[in-house]
Amino acid sequence: AKQQGGNCHQFYSIALSKGTSDRVALKTSLRYALERDELQVYYQPQLNLETGKIIGAEALLRWEHPERGLVSPIKFIPLAEETGLILPIGEWVLKTACQQTRHWQKMGYPHLKIAVNLSGRQFQQLDLRHRLVKIFTETGLRPEYLELELTESMLVENTDVAIRRLQALKALGVEIAIDDFGTGYSSLSYLQQFPFDTLKIDRCFIRNIQDNPSQAAITQAIIEMANTLDLKLVAEGVETDAELSFVVQHHCHKMQGYLFSKPLPAKEFESLLFSEKAL
Ligand code: C2E
Ligand code: CA
Ligand code: CA
Ligand code: CA
Repeated sequence: AKQQGGNCHQFYSIALSKGTSDRVALKTSLRYALERDELQVYYQPQLNLETGKIIGAEALLRWEHPERGLVSPIKFIPLAEETGLILPIGEWVLKTACQQTRHWQKMGYPHLKIAVNLSGRQFQQLDLRHRLVKIFTETGLRPEYLELELTESMLVENTDVAIRRLQALKALGVEIAIDDFGTGYSSLSYLQQFPFDTLKIDRCFIRNIQDNPSQAAITQAIIEMANTLDLKLVAEGVETDAELSFVVQHHCHKMQGYLFSKPLPAKEFESLLFSEKAL
């Protein structure tokens, strides 16, 4: 599981700990998960910090394994990437999330947005643009309501190619968010090079921010940098009132976190949305 605590650099030391045979077994059952309908998209609300209202959601994949119960994406996304299964799975998430969001738009939230995580393999697909166009046509969602979340590691290897791909996606009208910001190679110059719309500040910068002045200073610097570059800011993993007041005071635009809601199955997200609960 993700490490607890303030050390952002250990964030990704993910333990696939139960050994090789377990991985093989999981890989095999993952192969059937899509066709057996074991995958689900959960939705975590994103709130506008000025109004306190839900303005969108992040789509988060869940695997309801028949014997193991809910398997964490931290555990099976890497396996899906190794096997290439992330391509059909990722596409299914995109389509499901776009379709669902369009449905909620029609039910009375015409400007609801959806953020979907894109894997490295999907980003490298030469026909990704085409696949997205097809999804927009099939679901009726307008491209400007989709935000693709990418991580730094997907962009550092071949910067020029990555920038061109991002521009091609942006030309469709979709928005681009840089996810887990601050956990990798990020620098100001790096941020400037890529045509991002949104920066998501990783939870490790937000956690217990009130007790840690140096962390607060770093987080503040990231926020100022993003404002200078005209990027929208999402604070991820806000769990406490103290964390919330920090991100509000520092003019973050949006928040996402357990303080308001965990990721929810579609039906539960829908109830929350229509209850018009606000922060
Ligand atoms: P992520 O993209 O950074 O997603 C945010 C994670 O933080 C989610 O974990 C979410 O449940 C969790 N989170 C949100 N608010 C809080 C909070 O207040 N406290 C704490 N402790 N956690 C919070 P989740 O759903 O387990 O997903 C883990 C990772 O799996 C995601 O991290 C993302 O990298 C990956 N993932 C999930 N769904 C997909 C998908 O459809 N495609 C791809 N490629 N990756 C996915
Ligand atoms: Ca994400
Ligand atoms: Ca994240
Ligand atoms: Ca992450």
